[in-house]
Amino acid sequence: MSRFWSPVVQTLTPYVPGEQPQMKRLVKLNTNESPYGPSPKALAAINEQTNDDLRLYPDPEGVALKKAIADLHGLDPKQVFLGNGSDEVLAHVFLGLLKQAKPIQFPDITYSFYPVYCKLFGIDYQTVALGPNFEIETKDFKFPNGGIIFPNPNAPTGRAIPRADIESLLGRNIDSVVVIDEAYVDYGTESSIPLLRGNACPENLLVVHTLSKSRALAGLRVGFAVGHPALIEGLERVKNSFNSYPLGRLAQTGAIAAIQDQAHLEITTKKVIQTRERLVHELTMLGFDTLPSTANFIFTHHPKHKGVKLYQSLRDRGIIVRHFQSPRIEEFLRITIGTDEQTNELVAALKEILASA
Ligand SMILES: *Cc1c(COP(=O)(O)O)cnc(C)c1O
Repeated sequence: MSRFWSPVVQTLTPYVPGEQPQMKRLVKLNTNESPYGPSPKALAAINEQTNDDLRLYPDPEGVALKKAIADLHGLDPKQVFLGNGSDEVLAHVFLGLLKQAKPIQFPDITYSFYPVYCKLFGIDYQTVALGPNFEIETKDFKFPNGGIIFPNPNAPTGRAIPRADIESLLGRNIDSVVVIDEAYVDYGTESSIPLLRGNACPENLLVVHTLSKSRALAGLRVGFAVGHPALIEGLERVKNSFNSYPLGRLAQTGAIAAIQDQAHLEITTKKVIQTRERLVHELTMLGFDTLPSTANFIFTHHPKHKGVKLYQSLRDRGIIVRHFQSPRIEEFLRITIGTDEQTNELVAALKEILASA
């Protein structure tokens, strides 16, 4: 606390990211990073770009990266907005599209950064309760609202809804923006991006992606949003009032190579999905109840064991998972899908913990 803090800083409740412990030899399953490296082509491109050109500012518009993203998704580059990680994209979305007279809506259990942005930008919000099995019920998002945002699949539950549900939500909600945060879409969820192709592009749908999860580039900080060109133009106005150069040269070059390496994406996401299915099976054998997941993490609880105890016992064994001390989910653990070896260590540790309790 300092008397020099502005009044707004005094009111903030910042987001608390999953920890990034410095000790080695941890099984780190708490922040949904990929257990596999990024595309070797992305690393090679970054290496090659590591030269004297770094004295020059990067392209403020990210033209080449926008084109690579547009080509991959069958869109026009005017439909693409870039940011320093999707968290920055989301910040601009909250200020530029979701700060409206009416409160915005998001699920009661969801990405905990959303209420943080609301506080920062002075945005009113209402939470919409998930169904009994933690599913998003789009019919419960009622008009009027200042906008709607949720991840698909949702975080930290891992549960997804089909594109058709989002299409009908758009139809019922034509007077405000619907933002779908597809951070985990590549692990088996239907993307809403096809709705944005061609002349039928809705005016009020924005889809947000990150290269931090399935592209294994959390350390590079690249995210993007795609939507109607008019929405993108609004976001550009915010970005150019904040930081004209959010993406460095290495980030732009690496992201282009990563986006173009679909084969690497397919191999690594397939592997994660296989490991996920095996882990769910092993946990079921141990008596855990796991929500169906199409993400690179699972959300699970044991009817006979306290979530916080399991979290602490795993931690004592050098295995870090995520535990949220929040209503309805305090018995759950969110576990990132790691390599097969990490998964074996996790299952072995849980067997020990359950047996000794
Ligand atoms: C990880 C995550 C993000 C942010 O990713 P960046 O690393 O900032 O690109 C956004 N939304 C959700 C739901 C996430 O889990």
